[in-house]
Amino acid sequence: MRTMAFLQVPAVLLILFAVAKTAAEQVVHTDVAIIGGGASGAHAAFRLQEDFGKSVVLIEKQSILGGHVDTYFDQQTGRIHDYGVQVYFPYEDALDFFARLNLTLLPNPPRAANVARFVEFSTGKELADFRPLDSQRGTEAVRKFLALATDKGYDKMTQPGYWNLPPGDSIPEDLLLPIGELAKKYSIEPMLAAMYPSTGGGVGSRGDFNNVMTLTLMKSFPVAWIRAFLNDIEKFHVEGGNQRLFDTIAKRLGDSVFYDAVVTAAQRNETGAYLTVEKRNGQKTIVVAKKLLLAVQPTLENLAPFDLNQQERSLFSKAKYGRSHTGIISHSKLPNATTLRNMPAAAVQNPASPFLNTPFVLSISHYGGTSKLYSVGASGSDYGAFNEEEAQATVRSALEKMSEAGTLPNLEGEPLRVVAWSDHEVGGLGVSAGDMRDGKRSTWFTGGGVAADFTPILWKFNDDLLPRMVEKM
Ligand SMILES: Cc1cc2nc3c(=O)[nH]c(=O)nc-3n(C[C@H](O)[C@H](O)[C@H](O)COP(=O)(O)OP(=O)(O)OC[C@H]3O[C@@H](n4cnc5c(N)ncnc54)[C@H](O)[C@@H]3O)c2cc1C
Repeated sequence: MRTMAFLQVPAVLLILFAVAKTAAEQVVHTDVAIIGGGASGAHAAFRLQEDFGKSVVLIEKQSILGGHVDTYFDQQTGRIHDYGVQVYFPYEDALDFFARLNLTLLPNPPRAANVARFVEFSTGKELADFRPLDSQRGTEAVRKFLALATDKGYDKMTQPGYWNLPPGDSIPEDLLLPIGELAKKYSIEPMLAAMYPSTGGGVGSRGDFNNVMTLTLMKSFPVAWIRAFLNDIEKFHVEGGNQRLFDTIAKRLGDSVFYDAVVTAAQRNETGAYLTVEKRNGQKTIVVAKKLLLAVQPTLENLAPFDLNQQERSLFSKAKYGRSHTGIISHSKLPNATTLRNMPAAAVQNPASPFLNTPFVLSISHYGGTSKLYSVGASGSDYGAFNEEEAQATVRSALEKMSEAGTLPNLEGEPLRVVAWSDHEVGGLGVSAGDMRDGKRSTWFTGGGVAADFTPILWKFNDDLLPRMVEKM
């Protein structure tokens, strides 16, 4: 497993560089420096330390570990809401990791039995004539896609990583087709509408869902997940909330985690990496590591301090990103026991095409019972622009439009209450079919940016990757 091609700078110069810079800075030597403490980075750090006996430094820009996991405790009802990552499902032996940490997994309860109301959020109008596609047809089509993917071995080519994906122009044509064309080819079009509510906020945030390349879709709708989606296998959450998983890992890693920290400069060669790590409070540390493991999305912004060479820069410029957010909101004029589902008016004529233009709010969904809370997700195709402020403005605007159109009562000036919010940053990573055919696969990372983007699959990806990495140390 390669991480990244190192620059051809003699090691001695790099050490001099580090020493010269660090008269007043602490220097830490470690076996592996890991960037990003989400599902992949935290798991990798734990396994490297506990199973491979390696020293690690985990550099995380937030003040806690967990990445896309967001757990909220509702004091009013005493309920815990995981409003980011909600489910863990069996994939090989990945779930054994919870037992190692003495965490209990509980089956996910059925979703709140909400009434669905279909509303075009951009106009606020309720689509009383909309009839969703028969869910039975959708499920059958997804099942056919599952059979197709396993029969042709696409599951093994794309899970847990792309180790077995043939290079360049040997990639099966099906995987390079836009998902809309693939669905037509195999007469399984209803699968798209069925998949969309689950994956639309991610890959769908890049625009026309029909045009998402099948290979990209299979990163956020992988075969292992399809089985959970179809309820063929059970889905679980951590007792006490999913954040417990990462708080437990954090305890075991102790001082090896640098929180509120990012790499601001780096030098890399064949013998190691020399990283300047800066905390939010301005404190700087030089981390000298034998290996570097990048467990963040490979955006040019994240990679900027790592001194990319021309080839790397060219590769990472190809990917297109959206940006997604999840949150918990409250407003007294929102209806109880109801999910307001955003639907374009055109879907009244063509319910097989419920796809939204970005930016959008996919749905606003009551948590049920006596709760005053609603879950919400917002997605935008422009990674740079669709920040927290803009995402919340999109939700606010949807409520105002619904009120103006009479779908909701008069808001009477009551402001939207944002109870909890999480910017999930990059979503919908995609490289074009043309670039895939060029076969530029020379650089490898861990994490959702490069592997099937679900926690249990990423852990198995790490299980493959880590022995290859430490073998060369
Ligand atoms: C809304 C939503 C719901 C999901 N639900 C599920 C689910 O139910 N089940 C499931 O298995 N998967 C789910 N996923 C997918 C899951 O979140 C991903 O598979 C997983 O979080 C990816 O892990 P990761 O380690 O690659 O990245 P992340 O979890 O995103 O972690 C990256 C970490 O790196 C940090 N970071 C980023 N940039 C830097 C930097 N420059 N320097 C230092 N640190 C940095 C971040 O703060 C973060 O902690 C969901 C995703 C989303 C968006």
